Amino acid sequence: MDTSLDAVKRENALALADPEAYWREAAAALDWSTRHGPVFEPMTDPPFGRWFAGWTTNLAANAIDRNLAKGLGAKVAYYWEGENGDRRTVRYAELAKDMHRWATVFLEAGVRPGDRITIYLPMIPELPAAMLASARIGAVHSVVFAGFSEQALAGRIQDSESRLVVTADGGYRRGKVLPLKEIVDRAVRECPSVTRVVTVRRTGRPVDTSPTRDVWFDTERSVAEVSAVPRAGLDPTFILYTSGTTGRPKGVTHGTGGYMVWVHRTMQRVFGVTADDVFWCAADIGWVTGHSYIVYGPLFVGATSVLYEGAPDHPAPDRWWEIVERYRVSILHTSPTAIRAQMRAGERWANGHDLRSLRLLGSVGEAINPAAWHWYRSNIGGNRCPIVDTWWQTETGATMVSAQSGHAFVPEKAGSATLPLPGVDLRVVRPDGSAAAPGERGLVVIDRPWPGEFLGLWNDPGRFRSVYFERFPGRYTAGDFALIDDDGYVWFLGRADEVLKVAGHRLGTIELENALIGNPSVAESAVVGVPDEVKGELPFAVVVLKPGVTPSAELEADLRRRVRDAIGGMAEPESIRFVRQLPKTRSGKIMRRVVAALVRGGEVGDISTLEDDATVEEIRVAASTFREEL
Ligand code: ATP
Ligand code: MG
Repeated sequence: MDTSLDAVKRENALALADPEAYWREAAAALDWSTRHGPVFEPMTDPPFGRWFAGWTTNLAANAIDRNLAKGLGAKVAYYWEGENGDRRTVRYAELAKDMHRWATVFLEAGVRPGDRITIYLPMIPELPAAMLASARIGAVHSVVFAGFSEQALAGRIQDSESRLVVTADGGYRRGKVLPLKEIVDRAVRECPSVTRVVTVRRTGRPVDTSPTRDVWFDTERSVAEVSAVPRAGLDPTFILYTSGTTGRPKGVTHGTGGYMVWVHRTMQRVFGVTADDVFWCAADIGWVTGHSYIVYGPLFVGATSVLYEGAPDHPAPDRWWEIVERYRVSILHTSPTAIRAQMRAGERWANGHDLRSLRLLGSVGEAINPAAWHWYRSNIGGNRCPIVDTWWQTETGATMVSAQSGHAFVPEKAGSATLPLPGVDLRVVRPDGSAAAPGERGLVVIDRPWPGEFLGLWNDPGRFRSVYFERFPGRYTAGDFALIDDDGYVWFLGRADEVLKVAGHRLGTIELENALIGNPSVAESAVVGVPDEVKGELPFAVVVLKPGVTPSAELEADLRRRVRDAIGGMAEPESIRFVRQLPKTRSGKIMRRVVAALVRGGEVGDISTLEDDATVEEIRVAASTFREEL
């Protein structure tokens, strides 16, 4: 019998065997201005392929005009909710108007195709509209997460040499106002490329304005429609800096045609959005997940989405569940870190709301611990909603490995991202590049170009080659550690450079963390290796407990037993330290390299994307007492 699994594997093989035909067919679902030449051309140099090089299109035309032409002007594009309780329903026709307003402002400022625009806005409807306007006139947007500091913002404006910065008079986060305009004013002092700052009124608080440089964004202004500039397949659409989990953030640059087709295809396959769905990707647009699954993906398929400005736990931990109930959200896509935070707060917050509108759940950003997976499935999904665990990277443009709900369903296994999507030639290899056997841990490589592949790192071709293409010639090195099981399911186990080498075994950080999180008192944990002459490395664990739980000898003994049972005696942590919080990036990922640096007594490196400095101090104390004991 032909199971879903077989159907998916067959389609995957088809896409790899004849990329030209497969992606030509996928591209036919979208609007193009011209279609000259092949869809795919192999190249001898990284990234080893070019997609839609001779084709022209416009992302904003596909996100907006195409839907208006289908009569979807009155359809809701976004249900927007501000953290302070403000609400707005934005229909496709209204989003179009805002897009034309932004495009007019950009053109008035002299922005030409290829110029960069830095967008530093809270999660308000003006943010997707400004991105679309940038794409419409052929400019390149660089969205900077609105939680970033003045230095981080200035560095990104300088790196991209933006001529225009878009911001707001403030944004709400955890009940406080982010002084975005003040941050921009200070940042641009060191950014000579910036000639114009455009500010949106969000809070109404007074801010300084420069008569020569500043303009307000006028939401009432009526403007003529700005026509969409046809862009070639390889013209850049945006620059986006990576999360900085493993080091200094990289300025990933994405193109036009391939990115569009890839995002569109994954949106269909992974989520299978229908006309009745209310889709909520609860990420921030400042990360690639938000670019592809809050802005471009949902708009390409004419979906209705939720856009929420604030923190998940403001004013209380049930804020998200209230939103799901209010807008009858049917698909919720979020991160393991958010799920663990909800587990920590307790299921009573979700239980107090009617979540029966949900039909599908998604997870992205880190490996999801099986304990969190089961919690999510039963408490949020009512044991009724499948979970699509989606693995990908800023560099890949959109999802690469995931269960699917749109085409043929791939049965889940808790903790595995399941199968590669069509067109993804993902493999796990040994350090010498040979193929790992089923079940054998190794490094993740992608052997063939895929349409959503990034064009490069902005202004940094050397780093582009050295990070991704030097380790295994001819292949893309993802930097992750994983195994593929007998069914072809991919299990991501952590970062390649954070692998633990204990007593001759190579283990992913996730493997030990999963064992620790199996204890219901544990909220989250991070495990790193400390060099040891005898064993190679000793696992060092930091653990965050759920509220009201106090550390005890019994608890520690149980945690040690769990690691022994799940992995083996050699993996038992040398030390388990209980802390209040883990160091994380602003995109919510655990920064294990910070823990590792502190326990090894080295430098913490680039922590420009660290969410909270206090977490470092707490780990520093735990690490120094550990080193004294050694
Ligand atoms: P940097 O590259 O600056 O270190 P980063 O890799 O965290 O930062 P992103 O591009 O935001 O930046 O994240 C991609 C990484 O996130 C992947 O390489 C992988 O390690 C992890 N990841 C994302 N989704 C999943 C998932 N579903 N399962 C396991 N890991 C995931
Ligand atoms: Mg990365």
